[in-house]
Amino acid sequence: GTLGATDRARYLATLYLEDLADLIHETVSPQFALSRYAEHVGVSAASFDAVARALAEPPSLTDEMLLDAVWGHVEGVAPTLLGLTVPFPGNLYGALRIAQAVKARRPAVRIVLGGGYVNTELRRLQEPRLFDYVDYVTLDDGERPLLCLLEHLAGKRDEAELRRTFLRSEGRVVWRDGARDPEFGMAEIGTPTYAGLALDRYLSVLDVLNPMHRLWSDGHWNKLTVAHGCYWKQCTFCDVGLDYIGRYEATPSEILTDRIEALIAETGRRGFHFVDEAAPPAGLKGLALCLLERGVAITWWGNIRFEPVFTRDLCRLLAASGCVAVTAGLEAASDRLLDAMKKGITVAQAARVAAAFQTAGIMVHAYLMYGFPGETIVETVETLERVRQLFAHGLIQSAFWHRFVATAHSPIGLDPTAHGIRITGPSFGGFAENDLTHDDPAEKAPEWLGVGLRAALSFYMRGEGLMADVRQWFDHPVPRPKVPRNWVARVLEETPVLDDPTAERRFVWIGGAPVNESYGHDRS
Ligand code: SF4
Repeated sequence: GTLGATDRARYLATLYLEDLADLIHETVSPQFALSRYAEHVGVSAASFDAVARALAEPPSLTDEMLLDAVWGHVEGVAPTLLGLTVPFPGNLYGALRIAQAVKARRPAVRIVLGGGYVNTELRRLQEPRLFDYVDYVTLDDGERPLLCLLEHLAGKRDEAELRRTFLRSEGRVVWRDGARDPEFGMAEIGTPTYAGLALDRYLSVLDVLNPMHRLWSDGHWNKLTVAHGCYWKQCTFCDVGLDYIGRYEATPSEILTDRIEALIAETGRRGFHFVDEAAPPAGLKGLALCLLERGVAITWWGNIRFEPVFTRDLCRLLAASGCVAVTAGLEAASDRLLDAMKKGITVAQAARVAAAFQTAGIMVHAYLMYGFPGETIVETVETLERVRQLFAHGLIQSAFWHRFVATAHSPIGLDPTAHGIRITGPSFGGFAENDLTHDDPAEKAPEWLGVGLRAALSFYMRGEGLMADVRQWFDHPVPRPKVPRNWVARVLEETPVLDDPTAERRFVWIGGAPVNESYGHDRS
């Protein structure tokens, strides 16, 4: 293939590492995996019982290795307050093991828990046993809660004046949110830092050969966001009511570029991943212009929505500023379902936007979903046919298929009846609450459907099987899709992706050979 010798070697080395990880998982420590740890303990932990049981076991060999590594840091820093971030369920057990060890050896250290998992799943926390391990749990953005906590621990603020903080008082979990200080805006929060991390010792694995998909694991990307939250915040399956989605605020481009320069100076690395829920097109345009004006050379990628405002012109500008890839939710490639989701896009629109990125040489990854309430098998198969055509035309380079799950904080989870489903569990046991099980009287996506969809994608991402009938991926009979085989070609033909000079108030010369034409009267 086109893989160079170095990449081939790294790919083989990664496969070898994965085998070793599997061996450790099977024979030494069932908690161990390469990018998560004891994930089963944190997934759908409606009650704390299983977490408490796991923490009551003697530490495994890999637990001890983790704690040895942590202990070096604790000894070196001698903190009075220790913050543990839990972004995903696969980080919960490790964080609590650390908290448990620190409590045992240094009981005076106060421990505070926060992060994405906490912000999403522990919002109704009632479990006092969690506070055997940590002293405080804060929700949502951490700047103000942590500052309030530091002031409280320094004796300068009453406990009642904390911000978005759970703690245990007289054996019960109580909520403190009396601080009147304002939230920090995007212009005030400062630049994230990697100080103290041994960046050169992180593994850069190459576990997939797809050029878009490998961005996730291959190499170091400095992480920033163009904005806080999502400017659209309407999708019915999304946690739109939570602060990390629902509170939208853009970062001024000048400040964002300052932060980019600061991170380059700190890390020496020029790759950036904008981890927005959906980066605003105007913000990306402002950033691109600022990077070009200041001559800051970076490579970047980020998450967007398939908005028609991403014209060929804008995509060229983004590419000139270093954009190599975008990821975006296409969800179901069916207008009826996109409408039901309040996604605010159509499939044809997504295809045209992807074409604009394609002409600028920017790769596109699509997030896909199946099993949405009321979705029929016919619709799923037709979605696959459209996805096949998008791959075949080079409009998307990679994709991932999620099975729909109703979540507690999404519009569907909050009002399931209005969306035609019935929530069947789990019953809340005082600890975590997020993924819900449901019953859909209209249709139920069988297991084999997901198996077929994933099989198709794994071939498409290698550029294989693109001409095959999509029905072949399923090991059960499915109806023939009614989508015309030339659907994408027709969409692009009917509304070609053209530049609109009247839409721009500013012209930017991004390079290339000038074309010299004479017109009017030749006076020479
Ligand atoms: S799914 Fe994406 S676009 Fe929709 S509301 Fe959530 S973050 Fe915004």
